Amino acid sequence: MIEIKNLSKIYKIKDEEIIALKDINLNISDGEVFGIIGLSGAGKSTLVRTINLLEQPTSGEVLVDNKNLLLLNKKELRIVRREIGMIFQSFNLYDQRNVLDNVAFPLELLKIKKKEREKIAKEMIHLVGLDNREKSYPSMLSGGEKQRVAIARALTTNPKYLLCDEITSALDPDSTNAVLTLLKEINEKLKVTIIVITHEMKVIEKICDRVAIINNSKIEELGKVSDIFTHPKSDIGRKLVLPESSKIDFTTKGEKIRLIFDGTNTKDAVISELILACQAPINILYADTKILEGATFGHMIIELPNDERLKEKIFSWLDNNGQEYRKEG
Ligand code: ADP
Repeated sequence: MIEIKNLSKIYKIKDEEIIALKDINLNISDGEVFGIIGLSGAGKSTLVRTINLLEQPTSGEVLVDNKNLLLLNKKELRIVRREIGMIFQSFNLYDQRNVLDNVAFPLELLKIKKKEREKIAKEMIHLVGLDNREKSYPSMLSGGEKQRVAIARALTTNPKYLLCDEITSALDPDSTNAVLTLLKEINEKLKVTIIVITHEMKVIEKICDRVAIINNSKIEELGKVSDIFTHPKSDIGRKLVLPESSKIDFTTKGEKIRLIFDGTNTKDAVISELILACQAPINILYADTKILEGATFGHMIIELPNDERLKEKIFSWLDNNGQEYRKEG
């Protein structure tokens, strides 16, 4: 378990102080996939770098499996760090080394014999689905493949935790999906606790159990992804989760309502049932719904017909069928 207590970080540059983290409190349980999301400059990278003390906090505590990292000597810290793998947006592979040698590198540092380290590296390469690329050099690989190599390398020392700092930000959507699916498999198969730093809600939705939203150096909201996705409470939460109104066609004149799917409605096709039951034409202006753990989550904005009798019928159908909604604009 990782516990972060009253953590603050202030960078001092000449006479200027930059507050990067302000009184952060977080508990990350073993086995979870935990997301940290925020806009650029929010403090995400600083936070993730304090978890393995790559960054020294100005105040507060970081506990990994009940060990206060700030109280450890260099040797003790090195041992704890072995439990914490890290992957970055920019892969950080050695161009001069092929895939096998890149993946085996952490074991080389630990002075593990060549035969043994190649055996472990090959297992990891197999795990990330790159069996046929052992002899390839990084320049011959796609971005998604490079990130798989970085993941395999981080896993060679059998870490308990994996810190992932914007690891899909440089990837196209297909590679992003494949890398995230791989991370989830690693979490499930190897029981590695994964901490994902990102500015993209879609990354959080795809693999995280819980998420902390960080803004202006503070945690603004923390909870289950499904709760935050359906009912964001903070301004920044709404901004990250809900569509920007500028993207929606609000030039249409009819009354608009937002339907909120929080996973409790068991109907598969709310809109078609609503249209059939009320015999009303309904215009869908925006929809962003997801299936998480078999239930529907998300938002939809619809425009109602310009007919008071039909509108009343629609509202009473929504009420009777337990469908949450709120008026827009
Ligand atoms: P994010 O990862 O969310 O983009 P960062 O943690 O990188 O945010 O940065 C948080 C704040 O701390 C920003 O204002 C950034 O400019 C500042 N910062 C980050 N690293 C340093 C550093 N090494 N020295 C000075 N300021 C820094």
